[in-house]
Amino acid sequence: MSLKIETAFTGGNVFIENINGFDVLLTRDMRNSEGDWFYWAFRAIFDKIGEYRFTFTSPHSLSSCGPAVSYDDGKTWEWLGFECVTQRNIFTYKFDGTKSEKVIFCVGMQYLPYHLERFLSRHEGSPYLSQSILTYSRKNRPVKHLHIEDTSCPGAKKHVFLSSRHHCCEMMATYALEGILETALGADETGRCLRERYIIDCVPFADTDGVIDGDQGKNRRPHDHNRDYGEQPIYPEVKAIQDFLLSKKLFFTMDLHCPWIYSGIHNETVYFPGPEEAIHEELLKIFAQILEKHAPAEAPFFAVNNLPFGTGWNTKSNYQGLTCSAWIRKMCAPQFAQSIEIPYAIASGVQLTADSVRALGRAIAESIIEYDDLMGN
Ligand SMILES: [Zn+2]
Repeated sequence: MSLKIETAFTGGNVFIENINGFDVLLTRDMRNSEGDWFYWAFRAIFDKIGEYRFTFTSPHSLSSCGPAVSYDDGKTWEWLGFECVTQRNIFTYKFDGTKSEKVIFCVGMQYLPYHLERFLSRHEGSPYLSQSILTYSRKNRPVKHLHIEDTSCPGAKKHVFLSSRHHCCEMMATYALEGILETALGADETGRCLRERYIIDCVPFADTDGVIDGDQGKNRRPHDHNRDYGEQPIYPEVKAIQDFLLSKKLFFTMDLHCPWIYSGIHNETVYFPGPEEAIHEELLKIFAQILEKHAPAEAPFFAVNNLPFGTGWNTKSNYQGLTCSAWIRKMCAPQFAQSIEIPYAIASGVQLTADSVRALGRAIAESIIEYDDLMGN
């Protein structure tokens, strides 16, 4: 028999240490990230029915829903389930021949350029959505910039800016971002209201190279994209985002992230890491109360889970260099600028899926309108 493991696909990441019959030993590839992180993705091609055991050499490799699996080459994803996890670095997979013999396994549900293209093609011909190239990455790849604006709608509009994948492995966050955009393009009342009031700009893949190459992205040396918001950024995407934002009068910005892989309130709930500035902490409290009402049962959010500045990991010592949201608050005088953390797998005891996180995105979009109404500005 000859089980094959492949990583030569978008987002692929693993070293094959050993394949011994039904036993596979793997190591996630840290690339140029410091310390330990947990992103991995590989394709297995099975040719013999049986129960396979995959062991990672690093201890924290699996979410509380087990690995995510795709039977259609990464297009759609489901959780294999925690029952297949024997330790946080070991899972088993029964290949019974009823599903595809090619299975992609990943630490979470991938959101790759394919998924963004699928979203864009669903809205091809939309008079509201346009795309351009923000800049080129270090590896000379085009970095997408999406723009939603209803030019037929008269009157002044406020600027909203959304981003994800400053840490490229944080894929679940981009499903929420897609949910926000989808809502803003919708034919319903919420969609019309959003387009009437706002111009939305969006950079879905702030670290485009990392998304495509399947890097960890988190804790890149000498620092990662979300610690690069200083006077002399080293990443072209960050410089381009800064230049773009400095040219706008911003109303609302949100930078979407995912936390660590499992365990505890601040890895398995949706939450906001609170800002340092007291005024922005107050604004966050207001927005959080609103989002709590709108958040769907299948991807719940509770304001009590927010992590105030100065507590947990959210302390000054964790910020060697400004984050995207902190830089916006400092430089752009927005009326709201926050990062949100969306778990990879479980939120307040509920198993997340691509669709449920898109629904959370819709709730964020609805909350922007209500927040704007309440603030009356
Ligand atoms: Zn992050």
